[in-house]
Amino acid sequence: MNYISTRGTAPVLDFGQTMLTGLARDGGLYVPAEVPRMPQAEIAALAGLPYEEVAFRVMRPFVGDSFGDAEFRRLIDKAYAGFDHAARAPLKQLAPGHFLLELFHGPTLAFKDFAMQLIGQLFQAALARTGERVTIVGATSGDTGSAAIEAFRGLSNVDVFILFPQGRVSDVQRRQMTTPADANVHAIAVEGDFDTCQRLLKEMFNDFAFRDRVRLAGVNSINWARVLAQVVYYFSAAVALGAPHRAVSFTVPTGNFGDIFAGSIARAMGLPIERLVIATNQNDILHRCLSSGEYRTEAVMPSISPSMDIQVSSNFERALFHAYDGDAGAVSQLMEELRVAGRFTVSQGALEGLREIYASGRVSEGQTGDTITRTLAQTGELLCPHSAVGVAVAEQHLGTTPMITLATAHPAKFPDAVQAATGIRPALPPRMADLFDRPERMTPMPDDRQALQALILERTAERMGA
Ligand SMILES: *Cc1c(COP(=O)(O)O)cnc(C)c1O
Repeated sequence: MNYISTRGTAPVLDFGQTMLTGLARDGGLYVPAEVPRMPQAEIAALAGLPYEEVAFRVMRPFVGDSFGDAEFRRLIDKAYAGFDHAARAPLKQLAPGHFLLELFHGPTLAFKDFAMQLIGQLFQAALARTGERVTIVGATSGDTGSAAIEAFRGLSNVDVFILFPQGRVSDVQRRQMTTPADANVHAIAVEGDFDTCQRLLKEMFNDFAFRDRVRLAGVNSINWARVLAQVVYYFSAAVALGAPHRAVSFTVPTGNFGDIFAGSIARAMGLPIERLVIATNQNDILHRCLSSGEYRTEAVMPSISPSMDIQVSSNFERALFHAYDGDAGAVSQLMEELRVAGRFTVSQGALEGLREIYASGRVSEGQTGDTITRTLAQTGELLCPHSAVGVAVAEQHLGTTPMITLATAHPAKFPDAVQAATGIRPALPPRMADLFDRPERMTPMPDDRQALQALILERTAERMGA
């Protein structure tokens, strides 16, 4: 399986290289040169299988020769062994025709664990073969950082630097990043918002001398392997509700567009998904773009669903690449307009293509809180604010096709918002009960790429003995 860049001029890579590379060298994102179809009989045969087996069968065609079958199976098993729920991604019913896919039973209580636990295993296996070491740098709006730290902490051939926006993540999210004591973990509190962190990250990737010197690797959802891992639960959930014989729709709380883009891959593989509904909070650039065709960045407004407080939605570039039928020149031009003017307009043809797959909705802060309150009263389910954004938007899109809303984080990660809506303060699982007693360790950093690179060089030189 070959991977190509959405901007068309980076080298073509195999799966293993794509995973270790992250962002393409032309600034684009890697996508499979073509998406393999899964025959209907093979989709039907997924019914009733353990999550790990579904994962193997769905991901196998994308992996090529990078991992052998036995090895890939073993790594998948290890990745999900630390989850708190035997089903890994259990499906619950909220109302007639409306289901909730709980994706928060992993080690750090958000859906990010599905991908990060797996790529932690895949990185270790790939690096062990060559004896290489890498420096992982990630930008986080809260949950990617803790999931990455949990997946890579303690490894001898990896340093992991996580940039998070100072003061804009929940206390639980921050402590999950700042309390691991491992020497290879570096939590960096950046002055700014998530978009600042993501821009610093991309600038470092575009400094090739620095990138090659520290062997920079990226684990944000620009990394194709993360998107791939998330394709799996679209299959497991749809098949549980009768696919391929019956179509389903999904509503996905969306920030950087990685999770919902994985759904579009499942659809392209042949899973009968009628609609993928983009759910946004008041940071609604994607909803505005789908409604009007204009993608225009505005200032990020902090919300009670902070992991979705994003204006520059990286993976949308992958969706545009498909909507423009793989025209890398057109995508490069849009991205250049975005960089220069902070906006671009999607062509009419591409917009129609997007609307065939995606619908969208936005909810206010008040509606989010109300949805948490009401869902608890009507179903007994305690939603985190991100999942509540999803449920509220899904309710605007219910029809005859079963709707599955992705519950992206555990309510205990956002106890203040949940308590304000319900009076209940959700408890952390016992394995994390002492989170607030552990000492914190973090490095403050201004929005200054030079200073950041100097810090990374200093910390990695100490450990590499160079
Ligand atoms: C990351 C995250 C999202 C947004 O997912 P994207 O893949 O960035 O669209 C939504 N909810 C939670 C809880 C998250 O951690």
